[in-house]
Amino acid sequence: MKFLVSLTAGLLSVGLAYASPAPLAKRAVSTDGSCGGSKGFTCQGSSFGNCCSQYGWCGSSTDHCGIGCNSAFGQCTSSSATSKPATTSKVLSTRAASPPTPTPTKNVSNDGTCGGSNGGSTCSGTSFGNCCSASGWCGSTAAYCGSGCQVGFGNCGSNTGAGSSSTSKTSPATPSVTPSGSALQCLNGKNVPYKMTSDSEYAGLVEPYNLRLPYKPAVVVLPITNQHVQDAVVCAAQAGLKVQAKSGGHSYASFSSGGRDGAMQINLQSLQTIQLDQGSGVATVGGGVRLGNLADGIFTQGNAAVSHGTCPGVGIGGHYTHGGYGHTSRNWGLAMDQVVAADVVLANGTLTKASSTQSPDIFWAIRGAAESFGIVTTFYVQTRAAPSSITYFEFTFSGIFNSKSVFTNTFLHIQDVAKNASVVDNRISFGIYLDGSGFSLSGAFFGTVDEFNSGVKPELLRTLPSAETTVQSMGWYDYLVKVSGESTIKTPVTGYDLHEDFFAKSVTVPESAGLTSKALGDLFDYLKTAGSVQYYIIINLYGGPGSAINSKDTNFAAYVDRDSLWVLQNYGYGGDSIDFINGINSAIINAQPQTSFGAYLNYVDPSYDAATAHKLYYGDVVYSRLAALKQQVDPQSVFWNPQAIGA
Ligand SMILES: Cc1cc2nc3c(=O)[nH]c(=O)nc-3n(C[C@H](O)[C@H](O)[C@H](O)COP(=O)(O)OP(=O)(O)OC[C@H]3O[C@@H](n4cnc5c(N)ncnc54)[C@H](O)[C@@H]3O)c2cc1C
Repeated sequence: MKFLVSLTAGLLSVGLAYASPAPLAKRAVSTDGSCGGSKGFTCQGSSFGNCCSQYGWCGSSTDHCGIGCNSAFGQCTSSSATSKPATTSKVLSTRAASPPTPTPTKNVSNDGTCGGSNGGSTCSGTSFGNCCSASGWCGSTAAYCGSGCQVGFGNCGSNTGAGSSSTSKTSPATPSVTPSGSALQCLNGKNVPYKMTSDSEYAGLVEPYNLRLPYKPAVVVLPITNQHVQDAVVCAAQAGLKVQAKSGGHSYASFSSGGRDGAMQINLQSLQTIQLDQGSGVATVGGGVRLGNLADGIFTQGNAAVSHGTCPGVGIGGHYTHGGYGHTSRNWGLAMDQVVAADVVLANGTLTKASSTQSPDIFWAIRGAAESFGIVTTFYVQTRAAPSSITYFEFTFSGIFNSKSVFTNTFLHIQDVAKNASVVDNRISFGIYLDGSGFSLSGAFFGTVDEFNSGVKPELLRTLPSAETTVQSMGWYDYLVKVSGESTIKTPVTGYDLHEDFFAKSVTVPESAGLTSKALGDLFDYLKTAGSVQYYIIINLYGGPGSAINSKDTNFAAYVDRDSLWVLQNYGYGGDSIDFINGINSAIINAQPQTSFGAYLNYVDPSYDAATAHKLYYGDVVYSRLAALKQQVDPQSVFWNPQAIGA
């Protein structure tokens, strides 16, 4: 599942760049329109066009060639490029629906474009519809006819749906020239709501949590029904657009924006069902629900609780499909472990219910790699009765960074306690926060304050430097608010507007190894070089005696991290922190060359090339199984990001 550090070090050193490309002549020709990158497909000789655009897509239009092909992966011939300006290439980098070359005559449109500013073709007699909309697209619904067809390029007949209310949720057809035009055309034809780059709402919709990676999807689909999701996936597949769902938008790599420009983002913000079945305790939850609203909803409906992380704005879609750690996880398991079934839209547009008995392979794969296999429109999660109270504790230490030995001995003592079954069982979890000056430990205990103060606290603090301590009993809901760091766990369904600009990566530390004195010492020395870089490290306890996380294996779900003692998150602010954060990983990994470290899927690190990501996140065995399944259910890689299965 993970790989030895000697290999890691080599791979990490190339983590920020793709492996050097093979000579042009020896490359495999792209069969899915993608090019360059870790697979190194060439466009030369492909059916999509010979130019590999700067965004990694084959084509032959100006939108591919205009800002220069990636010459190692194909070239523009003079006949393949048009003379249009390249200013739109960022959103036009998909393989299909290349813009038409303007023609002086009124040809009948064969691609849905029309009118004076969009190719000059007429819509009369096309299969798209007879009306050429004000913005240059053929169609027959109110979205096209409503604002009047362009004179001379086709007409709305009485049967065209003009005035129909069926498109009231659908964006009007307002695209200018765009290679994703056929996808938009298809969405219009199926009355699927969407926003495109020119819509005023677009910027707010696509703004990711991580502002450092502001990718621009070609189109944002806003489904209200499962059928909308199904139709959108079919439209994307037909047009050759890559698809990613957006739930809470908190991907560290902005993968829900596609992970590069030009994808179809399917934004699940309207899928907000939260329905608790009081009998079974199973909650039916829409794929766009954020964690705070989930926790609030099930508690309000039936005093129920479920395992997940602490940030209320994180979405169920990414969190529950890539792990999901919170203070409940050592007791109840990861968030993903609570999923008992899911409704999933697959690459061919079908909707399937996946569970341990129905489509079990899909069920296995979406818990670890959902973004590569489909879109979960509905989760079914097993809740449990919320505890009437929980003990919250927090120790803030002084002077930990005064010397290497204090830092090292403090951590080694906590690590010893974490593995000591006479102190630690499944009822406790905690994490350590450090930032080069501050060092604190906080967590939750499923027991009373008295039990904690007599059985756990003395052992945790024994021999350690002085600390300010807080130990308090809290009601479940108050505890959720406390650890959220916000004044409320309820989050707005639309217009969520919290963001950061950061780079983060993780290290999973196997229980068998733990962190050694040398690794901690080297880490201490390295942190002293931070200078003006603003960063923090959170080290969460996943393993130890009784951990529910580690009681499962890779047969249960496509999630390999079931033997970690610690999971580190190394987080730096702004792009300037990237080198320093990479160095934190290196300091630890290089100090323990015999240890198989890995990485945590929910802290996805965009600096890894696909092959490295696959090794770190899945290991060879699980990745092979995922890749084989991907070939079966999504051979065209409709669901794609730069680290997706098959990328
Ligand atoms: C402030 C903050 C706090 C965090 N706290 C924690 C924590 O306490 N514990 C923890 O474990 N992690 C935590 N994380 C990490 C978080 O769990 C991941 O970033 C998670 O993947 C985000 O999910 P999302 O739905 O918000 O992200 P999105 O960006 O919407 O999606 C992430 C990925 O999942 C895919 N996806 C989303 N929805 C679906 C769906 N319905 N079907 C299929 N694929 C889907 C997307 O396409 C994308 O590839 C935190 C992150 C942040 C930014």
